[in-house]
Amino acid sequence: MAKVKYENVTKRFGNFTAVKDFNLEIEDHEFLCLVGPSGCGKSTTLRMLAGLDIITEGTIKIGEKIVNEVEPKDRSIAMVFQSYALYPHYNVFDNLAFGLRAKSKKSGKRLLQLLFLSLYILIIAGLYGIGQLLNLILLGLGNTIFIAGVVSFFVTIVAYSEIRKEIREKLISIIGNKSKSIQEYIATERDIEEKVNNTAKLLELEEQLYKKPKQLSGGQRQRVALGRAIIRNPTVFLLDEPLSNLDAKLRVQMRAELQRLSKKLGVTSIYVTHDQIEAMTLGHRIAVMNEGILQQVGTPDEVYLSPVNKFVAGFIGSPSMNFVNGKIEEKENSLTFVSDVLEYKIPERYYVLWKYVNKEVILGIRPEHIQVNTAGSTDNRYKVTIGVSEPIGSDTFIYIDFPKPVIEKYVYIDFPKEFTMIVKLEGISTLRVDEEVEVTFSTEQIHFFDKDSELRIIP
Ligand code: ATP
Repeated sequence: MAKVKYENVTKRFGNFTAVKDFNLEIEDHEFLCLVGPSGCGKSTTLRMLAGLDIITEGTIKIGEKIVNEVEPKDRSIAMVFQSYALYPHYNVFDNLAFGLRAKSKKSGKRLLQLLFLSLYILIIAGLYGIGQLLNLILLGLGNTIFIAGVVSFFVTIVAYSEIRKEIREKLISIIGNKSKSIQEYIATERDIEEKVNNTAKLLELEEQLYKKPKQLSGGQRQRVALGRAIIRNPTVFLLDEPLSNLDAKLRVQMRAELQRLSKKLGVTSIYVTHDQIEAMTLGHRIAVMNEGILQQVGTPDEVYLSPVNKFVAGFIGSPSMNFVNGKIEEKENSLTFVSDVLEYKIPERYYVLWKYVNKEVILGIRPEHIQVNTAGSTDNRYKVTIGVSEPIGSDTFIYIDFPKPVIEKYVYIDFPKEFTMIVKLEGISTLRVDEEVEVTFSTEQIHFFDKDSELRIIP
């Protein structure tokens, strides 16, 4: 187990900078999710740690050791990809054992194979002799070769399949003691068998051990891919969108399994995904990236409740936060956010916005923080029309249309997107399309962002 530290890491492909001045420390035993839209540099960040991409600038440490120049195979890292990358002609047992065998001594195996081959030749020759003898006694000399061949063939098959294990064990005990490399090989094989069985048990693959990948379901294949990484007992575990090939139901199931597994193993893990729900549910902490730049690192709650900027606020949360462009105006000794869509009387806790009087800001409100037809204060209530209603069983998403502003007697035809907001209501809503309703925003959950920097204005 080890900490991982990125220090001022940059990766350029020619003139294109894929990762810019990346700084991040992942604690020992931590499960960190690296999340961001497609092409933001997540995989490149992971690949640099694995040694598959060369770092242009900066350093990466595993534990206390700088690994920039260390070969991938010597980094004690295991990686699981979106494509399971299993060997199709090997069964589950051999797929799991592959990485371990690659490390084990080859000379002992070759010697043992040679000994078995010699033994089988001896057996066949012996049986052939017996067959010939039988033929002499029972049938005279006719068809000698044919009958002896058939008899020795069948006897060999039966003998091989029935007593293979016993012969092998016996031989091993006789010859193995004489050869150090055979002894080492056998010890390794036994160790591998134990590790494969333990891993199969951990991942509930015991019943599948002798099946080929094509005989497995998607979830089982992904478990084998995970098993292949786990079995090597890595210091750091890297997962690059490992669940994206699975259907939605299986993904949710595997997500829960991964959570249990990571708790059990306690290996420092970095999990790359573009799915923010996966990141929120899996990660101890989430690192949000955009355009090669790390935007924010925090626990799922921190990132959701206190996003550092508009990008993080919009990326984390489903459906996305609603945004409205406007400016701050002073009205009757208090502050009001004014826009074409709505006016919002600013709560006192946002006194910091006095600095923004007559300046442009962006108001942000999450779909789950908009209330429909609730009693309460007379401030900040908006009459809107329901444009679309999407019941999804546990929740209903409704799209509310704010009244179109009239400019010089003409009504906007294509009014900007921000005139529509999405609202998340619990359960199945009885609200109907074209119905007029009144909405309010949860005062505690309203956000403001600086228009230029897009940083969140902290109240
Ligand atoms: P996705 O979620 O789609 O896998 P990602 O966030 O993992 O995306 P990366 O694969 O890290 O993104 O790629 C980051 C950027 O670097 C992309 O614009 C990509 O086109 C570019 N890139 C990646 N590898 C190379 C390469 N070998 N040569 C040139 N550009 C590359």
